Amino acid sequence: MITTNAYAAFNQKDPLGPFQFERRNPGPSDVHIEILYCGVCHSDLHQVRNEWNGLSIYPMVPGHEIVGKVLSVGSEVKKFKKGDLAAVGVMIDSCRTCKPCHQQMEQYCVEGMTGTYNTYERGTKTIAQGGYSADIVTDERYVYQISKKLDPAAVAPLLCAGITTYSPLRFAKVGKGTKVGVVGLGGLGHMGVKFAASFGAEVTLISTTPSKQKDAERLGAHHFLLSTDPAQMTKFDSYFDVILNTISANHDYEKYLNLLDLEGKMMVVGLPSEDPKISPFSLIKNRRTVTGSMIGGTRETQEMLDYCAEKNIVADVEVIPVQKINEAYERMVRNDVRYRFVIDLKTL
Ligand code: NAP
Ligand code: ZN
Ligand code: ZN
Repeated sequence: MITTNAYAAFNQKDPLGPFQFERRNPGPSDVHIEILYCGVCHSDLHQVRNEWNGLSIYPMVPGHEIVGKVLSVGSEVKKFKKGDLAAVGVMIDSCRTCKPCHQQMEQYCVEGMTGTYNTYERGTKTIAQGGYSADIVTDERYVYQISKKLDPAAVAPLLCAGITTYSPLRFAKVGKGTKVGVVGLGGLGHMGVKFAASFGAEVTLISTTPSKQKDAERLGAHHFLLSTDPAQMTKFDSYFDVILNTISANHDYEKYLNLLDLEGKMMVVGLPSEDPKISPFSLIKNRRTVTGSMIGGTRETQEMLDYCAEKNIVADVEVIPVQKINEAYERMVRNDVRYRFVIDLKTL
């Protein structure tokens, strides 16, 4: 076994603190990775604080935006060798035999994908632990190649915030001429703005925070819509083809649904604790659709990383020592993330 240092949550109330646990020895198809950077996703906070239907398992080492360097590989590993850069995202396993798995959309595995943490390693009673840690052992199918050209700290958030916005925008065929509204300028939202703009769409950032307007424009948005101003919201009534909803807190979905034009789609990726209330009258108007989207599969995640390398797209990050994680969570709750915290694991 490998003894690994980490930061963990021990229950839903107390601050995260130092923790040590055992990882499995690498098997023939495993890659053992020294973690350099790990992004801080709002999903980490939701799970640490047990905000999703009491599904949290403790002790919990969060973190699913992982970038590191390969320490060793098993005898059957083909894609990696010692010293390569490598990345792990939100998923570390799936059944590998169902239809979505065959299509490399393993996030929709009929048996349920295995998350990187807050679950058990497939077929075992071992708690899977995430990337706020020194190293990780993962089957190579769920490990990605990343370009040496990009800053590895700024690449880390692509593994969740990146793919979670890339996938629904591609699914909705966003391109030149599409009017896209991105709701919420946080980790996901800022990647959504970058991708939608790079696909050629007309992009509007829909935000509750007036001070984010300048950043939205710098990131590629053409318009800024302050959602707390009813007069501005009325101006954009029935305007958008696609709305990417990244809001992390409970909110009124109808307010944003009413911004959709004929056959417009709201792609929901944000995961607040309460279920949405949606009136059928808002849906029948303009024949609107509400769609959800979960991260992306292994094929699309690698495609997204290659696209980012080609177009020079990375996240805007604030690198923090692991000891600042509790403070980072408090700032995240106050919508004060510009635009993704990334832990430097050297500080562990
Ligand atoms: P984040 O960085 O905290 O950003 C969330 C943004 O939502 C905030 O910056 C804020 O933007 C906006 N917001 C917060 N409270 C709001 C409210 N009451 N009303 C309206 N807007 C509000 O979070 P994140 O890491 O991007 O994650 C966003 C959500 O996506 C989380 O719920 C997370 O769990 C979920 N998620 C889902 C998937 C998936 O596969 N579907 C993957 C990753 C994350 P403004 O200041 O601009 O208003
Ligand atoms: Zn995430
Ligand atoms: Zn499957």
